[in-house]
Amino acid sequence: MNKFKLIACILLVSFAYASDFKLSGDPGEIFALRFDKERFNDYMIIDRDGNKFVLVPLPFNKQGSFVEINGIKIFVNEKNFGESRINVDSSMVTLSKENQERTKKESEIINKALKKFSRIHKSDLNFKMPLNGIISSRYGKKRFINGLPRSPHLALDIAAPSGTEIFAPESGTVILVGNFFYSGNYLIIDHGFGLLSSYSHLSKVNVNLDEYVDQGKKIGEVGATGRVTGPHLHWSIYLNKTRINPESLIVENYLDSIL
Ligand SMILES: [Zn+2]
Repeated sequence: MNKFKLIACILLVSFAYASDFKLSGDPGEIFALRFDKERFNDYMIIDRDGNKFVLVPLPFNKQGSFVEINGIKIFVNEKNFGESRINVDSSMVTLSKENQERTKKESEIINKALKKFSRIHKSDLNFKMPLNGIISSRYGKKRFINGLPRSPHLALDIAAPSGTEIFAPESGTVILVGNFFYSGNYLIIDHGFGLLSSYSHLSKVNVNLDEYVDQGKKIGEVGATGRVTGPHLHWSIYLNKTRINPESLIVENYLDSIL
């Protein structure tokens, strides 16, 4: 093989390799997959200038591998989000039998709510910051509690004094309100088409179950209920049950940036 053929061969192989990863994105982001005639049940579909896109969340735990939708593979890049170390009372880590039963029941209630796929509202993904505070822990941090590795932090923590007002970052319907062992006073808002958000550790909840809230309406106040080290809001956003990065959605025109 002469030199030129060899170079052509290398180029061809590297092109083929690169094109395999043409559909890729970072963990915690949403991939907008353009499509024509396929059907995607229970996904958010965006119509923009006659083009159709299906919104696919890229899970944190799929880094270095693919998510597959209707046989189409999307590569999830590997990303270093850093780590966070916290210490909490040992009774909040090593649970009594009673609390084990409680947390098991509660996670079933929460998981059931998060499966909701309603078609009443459709968000344009223009979320606002829910309160004025300081970001104290970002999405994706590897977490160590009392020195032991735990599941990663797939939410945004915003620290603020107890009583700081929290506002709905996007319109939706309140589909769960309650007091939970880990999350304290907690609520979930359904923004429609598999997009939901949750709010943990509140001192006060200002909305009722099944209540519709407009973007900007007060939903509660910051607190330190549940498993916490101090007052803050633990804010999660879910798309199709996958936790995505809340900081991405508060960037103006996020949807435009991914289409
Ligand atoms: Zn948190």
